[in-house]
Amino acid sequence: MNRENDRENVGTGINSGNSNSSNEFDVIVIGGGPGGYVAAIRAAQLGAGAGSRVCLVEKADLGGTCLNRGCIPTKALVASASALEFVKRLGDFGVRAGDGEVSYDFGAMMDRKDRIVERLRGGVAFLLKKHKVTVIKGKARLTGARTVEVELEGQQATARPDARPVRDGETGAQAGEGTVVLGAGTIIIATGSRPVIFPGFEHDGETILTSDEVLNLREVPGTLLIVGGGVIGCEFACIFSALGTKVTIIELMSSILPTEDKDIQRLLSAAMRKRGVQVKTGIKITSIARVDGQAVATLESGETVVCDKALISVGRACNSDGIGLESAGVNVGRKGEIIVDDMMATSVPGIYAIGDVTGKTLLAHVASAQGIVAAHNIMGGRKQMNYDAVPACIFTAPEIASVGLTADKAREHGIEVAVGRFPFAASGKAVSMNEVEGFVKMVADKETDRLLGVQIVGPHATELIAEATLAVRSSITACEFAETIHAHPTLSEALMEAAEAVHGLSIHSA
Ligand code: FAD
Repeated sequence: MNRENDRENVGTGINSGNSNSSNEFDVIVIGGGPGGYVAAIRAAQLGAGAGSRVCLVEKADLGGTCLNRGCIPTKALVASASALEFVKRLGDFGVRAGDGEVSYDFGAMMDRKDRIVERLRGGVAFLLKKHKVTVIKGKARLTGARTVEVELEGQQATARPDARPVRDGETGAQAGEGTVVLGAGTIIIATGSRPVIFPGFEHDGETILTSDEVLNLREVPGTLLIVGGGVIGCEFACIFSALGTKVTIIELMSSILPTEDKDIQRLLSAAMRKRGVQVKTGIKITSIARVDGQAVATLESGETVVCDKALISVGRACNSDGIGLESAGVNVGRKGEIIVDDMMATSVPGIYAIGDVTGKTLLAHVASAQGIVAAHNIMGGRKQMNYDAVPACIFTAPEIASVGLTADKAREHGIEVAVGRFPFAASGKAVSMNEVEGFVKMVADKETDRLLGVQIVGPHATELIAEATLAVRSSITACEFAETIHAHPTLSEALMEAAEAVHGLSIHSA
């Protein structure tokens, strides 16, 4: 088999080669999510021409949680739900579209989601192939600081003459039936995370679901209990309430989205209630069980809540178990997160970790940014992660996006702040679009005028946050932001006005 042919999408990927180093790579990446595949591509880009060899091992589907069970499938469903809600509001725009009732086909929505995922997965495979990354489908485990054993999917290693120990003297490097041992100059661990399930909340995948299984429903539940009012819970609440499901969110903390700005929490709670979602906060569920095909949650008060389905969305656990970290001596924290420094290096020289498994900020773009930092450092760079300007987006209705510090957080850090606020109700563009709910809030350091954070709730908040992210990252002042001319009429003018409002100078709001 020749090396070029070996570089298939997800396939065997193993090089028979003709040298005695055919299973040795400069870089082995474990996990093909937005952390892992981006790291692999960047490592290949930086090593191009230098004979670098990069291998990516993925046990399931390329694209990881983000592409297969997270960001993309949920946003495909958000798009369907928004389209449905928009069509119902066509009359507001003077548009008539037939006389019939607006309806939807849930199966078609789910099929569309699956097609989008499949198409993008193909795109990731294509990019890896184009960058000559060897992709191996199988479950990887460290057997030492420089060796990775892969349990091949649908393969027998005995059929491969080169599936053998790669370094003399390494312990535990014997390739068994269906496994192959790879040697690496450097290893990047990007194994991601999975839904947390607490005892008493065991999911059965049919009635009691995690975010993984809810994405495979073929029928819209009549009633849905969402346990946990965090980002994932709130996004699913918006999707299913748009489809007519009676949704109840039960959240232990005093508000949904407990880490967000308080004004945003209030606005979203009100918006949820307006769309028929029951929001119950400060309530503890002690257990949840399937009874007669329904999900029955028992509250601390002894009351029960009965729904057709329950979605447990109470957090994520790091995939750091069962991957041989102990054989390599990699340090792990209390919550199972792999401990890394800002260069993404673990406690073992030559082993890096990126993405959700590091337990930092569980977002796809953070995983990718960490992957890029790790790849550069492996190739001789000295890049560091900076988490001061990480945008975080919530695809609810209305959308929410933030970057940097909230006013409360800044005060906790002992910084005196000046806050500017501008409502979308005062934006000509938002009024034209009939989307006046929400506001932009800018938080600046009172002494230096430097922008510390921006929070947006309202139309296209998740797109608008990009400009704010650049501003926070570049440490520009509220004054400089306000003096930057923004096109009219655009939603982005709301950011400029909020920057003006930091000094009480917003033109279009009182
Ligand atoms: P993952 O994407 O989890 O990828 C890890 C990969 O490693 C997986 O493919 C897994 O199969 C593989 N793997 C694990 N162990 C092994 C092994 N031993 N051998 C080989 N392969 C292995 N983030 C956003 O930024 N925006 C969003 O809108 C967003 N929406 C989300 C919605 C939902 C419902 C969920 C659950 C998450 C969402 N996220 C979102 C979070 C985002 O999906 C994660 O932060 C991101 O996927 C983390 O990337 P990663 O590369 O670290 O890990």
